[in-house]
Amino acid sequence: MYKRFKVKIKPTQEQVDLIEKTFGCTRFIWNQMLNERQTVYESLGNNRESLYAHKYLTEKDYKQQYLFLSEISSYALQSTRKDLQEAYKKAFDRLKKGKKTGFPKFKSKKGKQAFRMPNVHNEIRFLDNTTLKLPKLKGVRLTYLPKNFKGEIQSVTVKKEHGKYYVSILCKIDDAEVKKERSGDGITGVDFGLKNFITTSTGDVIYGLKNVLYDVDKRIVKMNRALSRKKKGSKRREKCRRKLSSLYEYKTNRLSHFQWHLANHLCNENQVVVIEDLNVRGMQKLRSLSRFVSTQVWSTFVNKLENKSVEYDTDVYKIDRFYPSSKMCSKCGAIKEDLSLSDRQYECECGASLDRDINAAINIRNYYLVNDKKSEDHIDYRRGEEVRPRELSFDNFQGIFCEALNPALAG
Ligand SMILES: [Zn+2]
Repeated sequence: MYKRFKVKIKPTQEQVDLIEKTFGCTRFIWNQMLNERQTVYESLGNNRESLYAHKYLTEKDYKQQYLFLSEISSYALQSTRKDLQEAYKKAFDRLKKGKKTGFPKFKSKKGKQAFRMPNVHNEIRFLDNTTLKLPKLKGVRLTYLPKNFKGEIQSVTVKKEHGKYYVSILCKIDDAEVKKERSGDGITGVDFGLKNFITTSTGDVIYGLKNVLYDVDKRIVKMNRALSRKKKGSKRREKCRRKLSSLYEYKTNRLSHFQWHLANHLCNENQVVVIEDLNVRGMQKLRSLSRFVSTQVWSTFVNKLENKSVEYDTDVYKIDRFYPSSKMCSKCGAIKEDLSLSDRQYECECGASLDRDINAAINIRNYYLVNDKKSEDHIDYRRGEEVRPRELSFDNFQGIFCEALNPALAG
C-alpha cells in the first residue's frame, strides 16, 4: 500500500528562494503547455486523427526556449507535464462515460503552491534522521521524522500552506508490514449526521467534532473581524494575518487528528463498516448543512477510513445508490414520508421508538446484510433489538474514544 507522510520543513533562505522559483516555473510551464494544447485544439478542431498524431512540445523543448527553466529541477517540470496529461485523460474519460466534466484550467499565483518530484535513481533519500536530500535543493531539514515512517520513497511533493513549507512524502510499504490485529468482528452501519458527526448501528454516538471545532471557529471569526479593521499594508495587519493562518492550520490539524483516531477505532472493532456513498447521499443533506459539518469533512473522513481499513483488513462497504435510511423503520420496514429534520426520535406505528440517527445506521447495516451475498452465513439480524445510545467522547490527549462521563443525552 501507499502511505503519505506530511511534515513541516525548515528551509534555509536559499532553499526558500529556489522553492518559490520552482512554484513559479512549474506554474509557467503548466500554463504554456495548456495554452499549446488549447491552440492546437482550436486549429485542428474535431479532426481526431491529426489530434492524436500531434506531437506536443516537451519540457525539454520549453527549456531551450526559456532558459530560466533550467535553474530548477527537471523532475518537477516533468511531473507537471504528466499531471496535465493526466488531467486531460481524466476529463476525456468522464466525457466518454457521459458524465459532467471540467477541463484543466490555467493556474494563478493565488492558487495552490506545490510541485512534485519522483524518486529516480535514489536521488531522494535521507541523509540523516531529519535531513531529506531532494534534487537541486540538496539537504532539507524536516522539523521531525514521523515515528511510524517506513517504506520506499516514491515521490516527494513540496508545498506551501498558510505561509509555511511542507513536504509530503509518498512511500510504498509492503502490505504485510502494516497489517494489524483487529480487536473486534462487528458489522456496523454508520450514519453521517449534522448534530453528531457519526452514529453507529451499535448505538455509539460520536459527538466530539463540534466541540473540537467550536472554540477555534469562534476565535477565527473574532480574528477575521479584527483583521478587517486593520489598515491595509500595515504591520499590525500582517501580524494579524499570520495569527489567523496559524489558527486555520490548527483547525485542520485538530480535525485530521480526530478523524484518524475515529477511523482507527471503527476499523479496529469491525470486519465490515457500512456507509452511504457521499456522492449520492451527501448532496441531499447539503442544503441543511451547518458550517461545522460540510461534505468535505465527511469525505476526508471516508478517505482516512479506507486507508485504515487496509491495515486491519476491514471491509468498507458503500451503499452506492439512494436508500431511504432515515425515513424507514428499522423494525418493520415501513416508510415515514413526513419525517422532518427536527424529529430527533423515530416513532413508528409498530411500536418502535428509537433515536433517529441510530435508526438510520441500523438501516444502513441491514442493507448490507440483505444485499451482500458474502454475508449469508452471518445473518444474525438484530431487527427490533433494543439499541441504547452510548455517547462516546474523544480524549484528545490519549487519542481514544471513551464513554462520556455524563450520559445525560443517552436514553
Ligand atoms: Zn415500524
